[in-house]
Amino acid sequence: MTVAVAADVLANAGNASLDTYDSGPSAIAVERWLVTALTRLAGLGERADGVLTPGGSLSNLMGLLLARDAAAHRRGIDARAHGVAALPGPVVFCSELAHFSTHRACAALGLGEAAVHPLPVDDRRRMRPDALLAALDALGPDRTPVAVVATAGTTDFGTVDPLPQIAEIAAERGIWMHADAAYGFGALFSDRLADRLAGLELADSITLDLHKTGWQPAAASVLLVSDTTAFTALDREVAYLNPADDSEAG
Ligand SMILES: *Cc1c(COP(=O)(O)O)cnc(C)c1O
Repeated sequence: MTVAVAADVLANAGNASLDTYDSGPSAIAVERWLVTALTRLAGLGERADGVLTPGGSLSNLMGLLLARDAAAHRRGIDARAHGVAALPGPVVFCSELAHFSTHRACAALGLGEAAVHPLPVDDRRRMRPDALLAALDALGPDRTPVAVVATAGTTDFGTVDPLPQIAEIAAERGIWMHADAAYGFGALFSDRLADRLAGLELADSITLDLHKTGWQPAAASVLLVSDTTAFTALDREVAYLNPADDSEAG
């Protein structure tokens, strides 16, 4: 906490924005360092990447945006250019105990909250993988499974969905797996609790909140992705934001 407050003083004095490299190169350097450290802690590989966001709700929104565009791409639709109206019957699976920001994100992304398919939990309040499989099998050809959101640390109970089993199903069916570890990621800072998040490294994207069990006094959420090319969906080159010498500086 003391370190965090001291860091906040420095950040305020520097008034560095993370928006662009030239407005805050040192802040960007710290972000890159932090993201790399967190990808390693999460057990992600060399291709992993990430970005800071103002909260877990926005990290979930961005994770589901990447999932949505990947699902559209699999259907031969360029979601960025044409939107998702042409995406047939999108479905986002999560447990009935998932955070409400999953529903909000679906609404914001044009999928509608009706796209959310909440799955029942077992007696330990974890998503039932058999229910996920059954729901996938019941989908008609007019539906598009967009993502499965596994919660690693439910907000009310702290329970962790069975990540390895969910990852296996997602991989088998070619669906994006987003892990909402906004609350639970902090277990990785503990030798005693880290095991609880086994399988997290199999997710395509991960939300974590350093203002929860990372104990930071300022909103500091992170979206990690297992493969940096996932971000190409968001690429945009604008002369005033992306001068060539900044790009060359990395
Ligand atoms: C808190 C929480 C969120 C939302 O995070 P904010 O930083 O409040 O936007 C999302 N998912 C889970 C599981 C959470 O506990």
